[in-house]
Amino acid sequence: MAGVSAVVPAYRDHLPRGTTGAAETIVVVGAGLAGLHAADLLRKAGREVVVLEARPIPGGRVQTVRLPFDDGLYAEAGPIRIKARHRTVLRLVREFGLKLVPFSPPAGSSLVTIHGVTARSDQPLEPARLRLDLKPEERGLSPRELLERYLRDLPPDLADPAPPGSYADWQAFDRVTWPEWLRSRGASAGAITLMTVGGDSKELSALYVLRQIALIRGAGELDFKISGGMDLLPRAMAAALGDIVRYHAAVVRIHQLPDAIKVDYVQNTRSESIVASRVILAIPFSTLRQIEIRPPFSGQKERAIENLPYFPATRFLIQSRTRFWRASGLSAYARTDRPAEIWDCTHDLPGPRGILGVTAGGAVGRAVLEMTPEESVAFGKGLVADAFPEIGGNFEQGVAHRWGLEPWSRGAFAVWYPGQGSSIMPHIATPEDRVHFAGEHTSSWMGWMEGALQSGERAAGEVMA
Ligand SMILES: Cc1cc2nc3c(=O)[nH]c(=O)nc-3n(C[C@H](O)[C@H](O)[C@H](O)COP(=O)(O)OP(=O)(O)OC[C@H]3O[C@@H](n4cnc5c(N)ncnc54)[C@H](O)[C@@H]3O)c2cc1C
Repeated sequence: MAGVSAVVPAYRDHLPRGTTGAAETIVVVGAGLAGLHAADLLRKAGREVVVLEARPIPGGRVQTVRLPFDDGLYAEAGPIRIKARHRTVLRLVREFGLKLVPFSPPAGSSLVTIHGVTARSDQPLEPARLRLDLKPEERGLSPRELLERYLRDLPPDLADPAPPGSYADWQAFDRVTWPEWLRSRGASAGAITLMTVGGDSKELSALYVLRQIALIRGAGELDFKISGGMDLLPRAMAAALGDIVRYHAAVVRIHQLPDAIKVDYVQNTRSESIVASRVILAIPFSTLRQIEIRPPFSGQKERAIENLPYFPATRFLIQSRTRFWRASGLSAYARTDRPAEIWDCTHDLPGPRGILGVTAGGAVGRAVLEMTPEESVAFGKGLVADAFPEIGGNFEQGVAHRWGLEPWSRGAFAVWYPGQGSSIMPHIATPEDRVHFAGEHTSSWMGWMEGALQSGERAAGEVMA
């Protein structure tokens, strides 16, 4: 620290008027879960922290949509589930006095729609009716049982959330896509359809999917959500931080000086600068690409920032005049082969109306990016109709949240394609001199709130060390 103090006056002479901060200040970029948690831990450790957030509100991808829905209904544009294994999320929910409710209604059958035919989970699966050609040994197995059959003999360390020492041992899984890997294990085309229905995994590395499955497997079936909306968690975290969070503050440039970092940002159209001893970049690589880094990071880091793919998911929230599914003993949970995942966002809320949530990604997610907002809502309604044709007479209004068009997210969450697990992953979280990296993409729990929080903890630990 003495070295930093000594150099500050020298470079300070060259800083523009209005530059704030001090050599001891730690700047956290991004007030999503990762940035908020890192800032909180540093503040509690007595460090001076400033958080710069481009949006007017905290939470990043944790966004609860309350308008334009009727009857006080609300639903999520981002995260919908908290897994029982997500200890950090659950601990913070408890600390802030928030209430958990089950993600799914206590009763009701789910649906699967394939080739235009819908099957119920409370009735035997008839592959022929769904036009699925299964091998004799695959017949009679549920999608979950099929998956267990083909997942046998996985390396146990895949289920360890600690970052792997090396990705080399897992390289064989990273050479192919998820469907290709299932095929290589002997799964028929029909079985692959059953195991992948509801989500677009066609382009994903088998290693990415296997790691996700291995981390979650055996964690218990019950998922939770926060009563009142998932955004209550980041809002409570930001409120506890007070005015150290600066909103409307978009970082545009980072200068790596010999003994400090200067961060240029635009706050409400005004250019500002702040000097820090350390910076935690708790923003997705998809938006970090827009920030000028002087001098550039290492080649490996630059390649990781440039090439890390983001899943182009769209969340459709479709308001229904009635909860018509209940009369048929359905939970409103469905997976379809467009592909899409559908669920009842409002099972815990009173009233006759309900909101059906739909997530679609991959090729469908990309196609929606080209549509007008009205066309995309109509498209989302069509996705619901695949499994629930009754939505036709019940539709009232809807919202399509296209994550690829969100300027401060530019995608839903990080994924990787064949080859990238080995080439990119080892370089995502490593610090670059005084710059540290946090966010779901830097964690083993990629694509989860737990990953964002754990990464904030890791980055704060690096800074304190
Ligand atoms: C559709 C969808 C479904 C999901 N489902 C689940 C789920 O069911 N369960 C679950 O646990 N997780 C889920 N997730 C993942 C979860 O939302 C994320 O992992 C988590 O919220 C990411 O937090 P973060 O802090 O890493 O990033 P973010 O939330 O993206 O926070 C980054 C912050 O940085 C800000 N920012 C970006 N660029 C700049 C800049 N240049 N200057 C200043 N600020 C900037 C952004 O505005 C943002 O506030 C889902 C996400 C999506 C999108």
